Parts: sequence; C-alpha cells; structure tokens
Amino acid sequence: VTVAPYGIVRLHDTALALRARREYAERERWPRERLDAWQRERVDELVRDAVMRSAFYRDRFEGLLGEGPVQLESLPELDKATMTEHFDDIVADPRLRQAELLPYVERAVRDELLHDRYRVMCTSGSSGRKGLFVWDREAWQALLAGFFRFNEMAGIRPKLPRLRLAALVGANPAHMTARISQTIAIGMHRLHPLPVTTPLPALVAGLNEFQPEVLHVFPSVGALLADEQIAGRLRIRPRVITTASEMRTPAMAERIRTAFGVSPTDLYGSTEGLWASECEHHAGMHVFEDLVVVENVDANGRPVPDGEVGARLLVTNLVNRTQPLIRFAIPDMAVLDSSPCACGRTLRRIVRVEGRADDTISLRGRDGDRVLVHPMQFAPVAHDAAVREFQVVQTGQRLRVRVVLRDGASPPEVAGRLERELSARLDALGAGPDSGIEVEPCDGIARTAAAGGGKLKLVVADPDA
Ligand SMILES: [Zn+2]
Repeated sequence: VTVAPYGIVRLHDTALALRARREYAERERWPRERLDAWQRERVDELVRDAVMRSAFYRDRFEGLLGEGPVQLESLPELDKATMTEHFDDIVADPRLRQAELLPYVERAVRDELLHDRYRVMCTSGSSGRKGLFVWDREAWQALLAGFFRFNEMAGIRPKLPRLRLAALVGANPAHMTARISQTIAIGMHRLHPLPVTTPLPALVAGLNEFQPEVLHVFPSVGALLADEQIAGRLRIRPRVITTASEMRTPAMAERIRTAFGVSPTDLYGSTEGLWASECEHHAGMHVFEDLVVVENVDANGRPVPDGEVGARLLVTNLVNRTQPLIRFAIPDMAVLDSSPCACGRTLRRIVRVEGRADDTISLRGRDGDRVLVHPMQFAPVAHDAAVREFQVVQTGQRLRVRVVLRDGASPPEVAGRLERELSARLDALGAGPDSGIEVEPCDGIARTAAAGGGKLKLVVADPDA
C-alpha cells in the first residue's frame, strides 16, 4: 500500500498536535505568575527573532529595544492596512511574495503545503481587503493543538464508533476552518460538512437524516435551527453544540439552549492567531494565552481595565514565526475578565464582544459633526421576540433594517414599533434631519459564500457615506 505524502504530512501534523495537547492542558492551570513569565519569555524570543529575520520589524523597532527584556507595550501597533502594504517585508522567508500568494490561495482546493512547509490562507475581508496569512508547520501544529483544546473544553472527545459531527460552516477552502477540517480529516470523526449556503429546508432534512452528536454552527444559523427544532420540523438530539465565527448574542444562545437543552460552547478562532473558547461554565471565552498575548485598548491605544469595553484588541501571536504579528489590531470591541473561573483555568476570559468597530455606521449629524451608530444601538431589534433575524444596510444617510419575522407576528405592527424605537435612538444620538430608518420585513436573509464566507453580517455599513 502506498500512502501519498499529502496524507503523511497531515497525519504527522495531527499526531504532533495531539501529543502537544497534553502539555498544553497543564498550561491552562498554571499559576498566573508562571503564565505571565512564559508570555514574557515568548514575546522576547518572538520580537528578537522578528528583528533578525524581517526587514519591516528591523526598521520599525530600531532604537526601541534595549538590553533588557522586551516591553511589549512600548512597541507600535500594526494595523491590517500596514500589514497588507508591507507583507513582503514582514514575512521571514523571501520566497513568500504577496503578488504570487494571492492567486495561489484562490486556487488552493485542499490542505496543500507551499515549499513543503507553509499553509497559506486568507480571510474574507468583509470590510474590504483580503488578509493573507502564512503558517509554517510548527505553528500550525500549535494551532491544531489549540483546536483540540477547544474540542475538549466543548466536551468533544474521539470515540468508537466514531462521533457523528455536522459542521455548518463557510465553504471557502482558503479559509482557516476549512484547512483545519482538511488537516484532521484522517478518520477521527464521521464528519458531515454542510455548506451554510444550503437552503434551510435542505439543511433540516440533511440533519434529520445524519442525526449529529456534535453540531458546529454559526450562531445565527444555530438560532434558525433552534426555531426549526421547536416547530418540530427538525428532530435532532446533539450532545454538544459549538458556535463560532460570528458575534453571538445572548438571545441566540438562549434560543439554542431552549430548543436543544444544550448550552452552546462559543469559540473565537482567528487566522491572526487569537483563539479563545468557553469552558463548561459558559462564563466567557478563555483566551489561549500560552499561544497568544491579547491587550484590550481604547481608541488612543491606552490599556482598558477589566469590565470595560475597549476599541480594539491587540494580538501578539506567540507561535507564528514566519509572519510575525506583534500588536496586530483587530477591531473587536470586547470586555475582558481576569478573575478566577470556576473551572480552575487561569486563562483570562473575553466575557463580551460588543461588535466590530468597522461595523459602526457613520452619519451626518445635526450640527455638522459625524454621528457614530454603534452595532449595540440595534439591540431592540436583536431582542424583539417577533424577530428571527435581521440585517442593517446603510445607503448614505438611510438605514434599511431587513427583518425576518416569526410565524404569527404582524409585519406592519413590528415594523412600526421598531421604526419608532430606532428613530428615537438616532435622534438622541444627534443624527441629521436627512437621516432615516426603515424596517422592512422579508422572507429570509441570504448567506453568500463570496462575502464573509457565509457569515451573517448584522451591519453592512456604507464606507462612502
Ligand atoms: Zn472556565
């Protein structure tokens, strides 16, 4: 029997990740001082390595590094535009050129390696430019070990007969989630991938037939399936439900719990390297701090204390040495908590994500200033019992709120109620007289594979407004 090298590489990477996972389990419960010391040592190595191997960081950090340990907070932030612009100088291997990698990643159909060691991925760039990310094999093994950590935290353990796992996620093979599934597709679970762009009745039929023990979904899709289960059309009894990739509102989590009797485990997994997962206590997502340093900062880059909403998260990826990301800004407005968790893990938690800063709508105000409408302002829609799901689309000064209503709701009544409430909010924020809001009941909001990899974007801001 001959085994293709492709298979051997995946087996090897998965085996090393499974072995590393045991070591990682101990780190989750280290005393805080030990974890802090571990992070400081890794940051020091990462930064000095980046200065040696990357022209971009050599220039950027010149004169900023003294003899002593690296002070991460004293280094400049890196935003996505700068990363994209300087990609070729940032990466530590001169063979990696953005102009060649972009068409390459579009062609990639399976978990293939470039130059025998690199996995190249992109993010969908729902707010414009695509992000390009390269992980070498060592870093990828660490990321996979992190993925196995998430599985354990969610209560997913390999077993015989194999676990029936249905994953309703994005279909783009260039995205990280698809790559992880491909790497570990060596027979651990019975995997039933369903493109999230499948129409709802077909999803329901497929799931009824497959009867998954584990269901992995975008939270908005999980909430739709919860309605189907309550209505009796969907009849499944998953033991574990995990959610990822979109912002999950408390209302979505509650609906999933009501329908299936299972508390969904939320995962934050990003190609940049920020990974976090809820534990069995569902009290926020534990950041995988042995693999990544996360700083929560305000609009001016100052640290934000626990319990307060920041303007962005700064991510320092401790494992990716090929494309060093040091204080990389992710526009998530989050709340962190460092207090001990009942599970005994010492990893800090992201207790809330309020939305993405780039989902904030900007309108002309009454007095000529810009008025910022934060995604949180649409909470009345998100929490309205008659609303199944919604999307806000901005065109200039006009906001159109498309809503899908539950059976039995009166469209004119719901639209009128929400329009009054949202108009009052816009008014209170100081939006100009030419601004307006319209609530439009519709049959469904399509997930498209192209934009956002099938994710439901709650707010579509108009960048030219
Ligand atoms: Zn915990």
